[in-house]
Amino acid sequence: MTAAVIEPGSVLGLLGGGQLGALFTLAARRLGYPVAVWDPDPEAPAHAVATYSFPAPFTDQRTFARFADLVSVVTYEWENIPAELCRSLEQQKPVRPSSAVLSVIQDRLEQKGFLSSHGFPVPAFATLTVPDQLATMVRQVGYPALCKTATAGYDGKGQWRINGESDLRNVERAIAESARPGMRWIMESCVPFERELSILVVRGSDGESCTYPLAENEHEEGILRLTKVPAPGSVAMAERAATLACQVVDRLEGVGVFCLELFQLPSGELLINEIAPRPHNSGHYTLDACSVSQFEQQVRVTCGMPLGEVRLLSPAVMVNLIGEDAATTMTGTGCRTLLAIPGALLHLYGKRTIRPRRKMGHVTFLGETLNLALDRAQPFRDSLASGSIPSA
Ligand code: AMP
Repeated sequence: MTAAVIEPGSVLGLLGGGQLGALFTLAARRLGYPVAVWDPDPEAPAHAVATYSFPAPFTDQRTFARFADLVSVVTYEWENIPAELCRSLEQQKPVRPSSAVLSVIQDRLEQKGFLSSHGFPVPAFATLTVPDQLATMVRQVGYPALCKTATAGYDGKGQWRINGESDLRNVERAIAESARPGMRWIMESCVPFERELSILVVRGSDGESCTYPLAENEHEEGILRLTKVPAPGSVAMAERAATLACQVVDRLEGVGVFCLELFQLPSGELLINEIAPRPHNSGHYTLDACSVSQFEQQVRVTCGMPLGEVRLLSPAVMVNLIGEDAATTMTGTGCRTLLAIPGALLHLYGKRTIRPRRKMGHVTFLGETLNLALDRAQPFRDSLASGSIPSA
């Protein structure tokens, strides 16, 4: 079924106002759509670029009425917004991706259950409902294991690693201390992956879909640090990942931009770590290195417009600016040195407060080859670790 087309000039409703939302809003405005941003944090970056701003709790009924009345369609920029809110909005306006898709994705147990029941490859997992069953559940997946909160975790938050029996008591205590009524956890086998990969899929309401090139990701302390595109490796591997990603999003009947995070095992086998129902940090390179960005694609599919033709215009390496990295980069010397690197493109999200582990911006390094882009990015990445960027 082809969904109604939302014409330029109509107001797009966006739930969540982080950097993904701000970049969506800028893409929407370029295509002639005003955006209404609803995020409880008045300092969320998307408010600063929105046409209409709703800095109110997601439970606020007056805001609900005004927002639902104003917008023609709703999308969101992260999966931890209340599914209930999406369900209520859906009674009045289209929500893309749908609240049903959001419900499956925002709960790790639902998501892994969905994937495994359809035969998609995921790490071994088990459900934990009470902390004192930890030892029993770990036995089902084996050591080393990861225990993750079923909901509301991201960037490695709400995760505990269990290497062996000696960790059980501490992890059980930590889980019990953070437990709230009805909370559940997923126990996952900690897989010995060779590398982490991700792939973006865009799927329209007519079922047509397209993928972006496979990306290779490096994480530090559970947070994405660096993305390389195209991921080194065989064309067959990239095709396998693209086929898998399209099959998953088709099964979900998802309408929107999705990202599959993958583990590549030493055997070459791919396992799905998780699905994001929105543009993804590992897709930020699309802003500078592709014919159409992941954010413009989100605008297009949200509005029932044709998908943009995806072409990688240049190999790229994206380096995230996390916490104090932003202060290092924003000194006069740091910024001048960075911008003097050929092919370096800086994006700062305008967040006023620097906090540890907070994503403050990113830099995309372009190069005629991936090796050239890496040669340009690597000294910068190393200098972030030392806390100062030496002048050129
Ligand atoms: P997540 O928040 O689930 O995406 O996890 C953040 C990071 O933790 C991932 O990018 C991986 O580096 C690591 N991780 C998560 N789950 C697993 C797993 N089952 N096995 C090995 N590493 C994992």
